[in-house]
Amino acid sequence: MAHCKYIILGGGVTAGYAAQEFVKQGVKPGELCIISAENWLPYDRPPLSKGVLQGKKPIEKALINDAEFYRQNSIDTRLVTRIAETDLRNKTLRAENGEDFTFDNLLIATGSRVRQLKSPGADLGGVLYLRTTEDNQKIVAAAKKGQNAVIIGGSFIGSEVAASLTQRDVKVTMVFPDEHLMQGKPHTPEMSAFFESYFRERGIGIMAGEKVASLKGDGMVSTVVLESGRELPADFVVAGVGVQLNTDLFEGSPLHIDDGILVDEYLETNVPGVYAAGDIARYPDKIFDKPRRVEHWDNAQQQGMYWARLMFAGKDREPFVHVPYFFSDVFDLSWEYWGDSKEGDTVVYRGDVTSPSFSAWWLKGDRVMAAFVMARPDAERDAAQALIESGQSISAAALGDEKQPLPTPETSTHTQG
Ligand SMILES: Cc1cc2nc3c(=O)[nH]c(=O)nc-3n(C[C@H](O)[C@H](O)[C@H](O)COP(=O)(O)OP(=O)(O)OC[C@H]3O[C@@H](n4cnc5c(N)ncnc54)[C@H](O)[C@@H]3O)c2cc1C
Repeated sequence: MAHCKYIILGGGVTAGYAAQEFVKQGVKPGELCIISAENWLPYDRPPLSKGVLQGKKPIEKALINDAEFYRQNSIDTRLVTRIAETDLRNKTLRAENGEDFTFDNLLIATGSRVRQLKSPGADLGGVLYLRTTEDNQKIVAAAKKGQNAVIIGGSFIGSEVAASLTQRDVKVTMVFPDEHLMQGKPHTPEMSAFFESYFRERGIGIMAGEKVASLKGDGMVSTVVLESGRELPADFVVAGVGVQLNTDLFEGSPLHIDDGILVDEYLETNVPGVYAAGDIARYPDKIFDKPRRVEHWDNAQQQGMYWARLMFAGKDREPFVHVPYFFSDVFDLSWEYWGDSKEGDTVVYRGDVTSPSFSAWWLKGDRVMAAFVMARPDAERDAAQALIESGQSISAAALGDEKQPLPTPETSTHTQG
């Protein structure tokens, strides 16, 4: 039986950044353990659909910290170790190989796994997904110049994989049931129209409003059949059709689970000493005053770092308060997004939404709820997070008029713990 003062269950983005912060806070040798089902030390997943998939960045560069970091700081990393049972009240985890781990404080950061296609033929060879380094390497191996790839799904992973494979001279067709690419994520129809034409101009076929009926092939996929009857040639398929939370392990445990593991403003679950962070945590968002679960890199990073600080904060602890944020890169475009566009009832643009340089601002009355910024002056980027966080009032007319400078944001009323 191994005992650690702090255990992080899951070796993904949350774990990698939490470990960094633990070291900054002065964790003692042997106090921190990371238990991960993967055979890689914690790594960033975003490059797997971008630079690494394009062949521009070596996969090793995705590691959040190198092996030496964990060795030097005596952080016990148990890789290829899947936890199969938990007894949270008795602070014990049991691995598939029968080894028990006990803890004083546990951070559950088991993240998510890809949702599998259910269509007939989904089990054929060449039907691929993207979550891990192994998945990435399978796609890289399949991506030969001139081959036909069908990407199923029109959201972030689908769009990024489509763009990266096109940059490898693969002929890409995207299929998705929505009317528009990245519909509502947070793209407005105007924004989707821009991205769709940008993708088409770079040779990507876009089959919007289409559902997959089946996949055909002799052992390996060769054709994707759509419900409309159309058939698409496919040397391989990549499906980006969402994720499933890795909360199954906790079914029957005392944890409250409802679209994620419920935590309080300190990321603590209903079991004292047991916390959750990253994709699986549903926490009270103090800025928007509603429960929130975020499946993005920044949230995993920030919550991992927050937990490490919390473990050393004692009575001075502060709640987790953070403006939700994510980013994406496709071709030569990079965009960032803050806030919650679903809370807005008006949207205004700065710049030209039919060009690669614009920002979109969602307001409810005179309060900014969300902002999307792509290739804009720094002032817009700087204002986005601060305006959302401070709740400072601004009219839609002023915000949508590029000639009017953005107000200097008031000092934030929130601090991140
Ligand atoms: C290809 C790709 C590109 C992305 N790009 C972006 C982007 O551009 N921008 C953005 O904002 N977000 C992006 N994301 C999302 C972001 O990476 C995730 O939100 C983030 O990884 C979540 O971190 P996490 O620590 O919660 O979970 P994960 O990083 O998924 O880590 C979970 C870990 O838990 C382990 N685990 C699960 N169950 C067990 C168990 N029973 N025992 C032991 N270990 C277990 C898993 O093996 C894994 O190591 C991307 C994701 C992917 C897959």
